[in-house]
Amino acid sequence: MIPFGYQRAEDAEGAVATVSRDPNAMFLGGGTNLVDHLKLGVASPGLLVDVTGLPLDRIEPLPGGGVRIGAGVRNSDLAADPTIRSHYPVLSQALLSGASGQLRNLATTGGNLLQRTRCVYFQDVSTPCNKREPGSGCSAVDGYTRYHAILGASRLCVAVHPSDMAVAMTALDAVVQVQGPDGERHIPLVDFHRLPGDAPQRDTVLTHGELITAVDLPSLPTGCRSRYRKVRDRASYAFALVSVAAVLDVGDGTVRDVWIALGGVAHKPWRATRAEEVLRGAPATEETFRRAAEAELADAQPLPDNAFKVPLARNTLVSVLRDLTRRDLTSQTPEDS
Ligand SMILES: Cc1cc2nc3c(=O)[nH]c(=O)nc-3n(C[C@H](O)[C@H](O)[C@H](O)COP(=O)(O)OP(=O)(O)OC[C@H]3O[C@@H](n4cnc5c(N)ncnc54)[C@H](O)[C@@H]3O)c2cc1C
Repeated sequence: MIPFGYQRAEDAEGAVATVSRDPNAMFLGGGTNLVDHLKLGVASPGLLVDVTGLPLDRIEPLPGGGVRIGAGVRNSDLAADPTIRSHYPVLSQALLSGASGQLRNLATTGGNLLQRTRCVYFQDVSTPCNKREPGSGCSAVDGYTRYHAILGASRLCVAVHPSDMAVAMTALDAVVQVQGPDGERHIPLVDFHRLPGDAPQRDTVLTHGELITAVDLPSLPTGCRSRYRKVRDRASYAFALVSVAAVLDVGDGTVRDVWIALGGVAHKPWRATRAEEVLRGAPATEETFRRAAEAELADAQPLPDNAFKVPLARNTLVSVLRDLTRRDLTSQTPEDS
């Protein structure tokens, strides 16, 4: 391992100032992704500024409704929070479908949003990867592509975003609160992660030294239901092949409103706006759900090993919407994995 410095941040301003002025400094959350990258040689910061001691570990109601989740809140605590379980079950379910109990006890909200792709070529420093080393080439395009993107990829990168939590938060219209050297920013999560384009090394719109301080969730209409479903190769401790986060508001058999995001399909959590357009104001029927799923996946461009993801994403979306309209839906409580 390459030697590096370690500091515990005293306050957010100091942490931002220290990281901003040193291009080789990085924030450290629970370390469950970054420390792996240090060991693998994927990252080699000169200084780690540990932000887990900052007072960012609260889940608080927002004055106008909704909830503010501190960036230091651990994934386990967020999943178990009574407000999250009762008002945002989709988020609780997404968190509990990720990693393992031990990892969730360490992983933070801020670090989870910034975890990097699990593309095997990105994590293997002996292979070219444009995301790890811009301009070196993409080993995945002609490699093993079972886990890769079917939507929004570029010729430079076909990796997918790995976080379950971020997919649920994208469906929930979350807003990321950021503190940087030039002040504060409020970034809708849907605009926070990037598609790869010509710069796959940049996962998000953050600039160096910007600290995530919180994530805000708006309140949801009374009576709407939400759910997260993750399809993967093993029943637990595996990343999504495809996942669906959906929030559905139905009245008199008609979709009043709907919010959907897909995971495992793109370089960022994929907001399913085309499906939402088909669904809004339409009868909440199987036929509508199918049309919505067809519309969303119409432009999918599968790779040689992952054509199965297209029908898998369609069918999972239809199945989640069908579940959310069942009269006897009781499983609003999270499912652990
Ligand atoms: C074996 C294994 C299985 C896993 N399975 C899943 C899974 O199925 N689903 C899933 O979603 N995840 C999974 N994970 C990933 C896990 O959820 C992430 O590693 C974790 O959420 C990262 O959070 P952290 O606090 O440990 O981040 P860290 O590792 O500390 O940091 C990650 C990144 O975030 C930056 N950072 C941290 N905090 C801040 C902040 N406040 N502001 C700005 N930058 C910050 C760091 O500089 C770093 O770049 C798995 C991990 C492992 C090791």
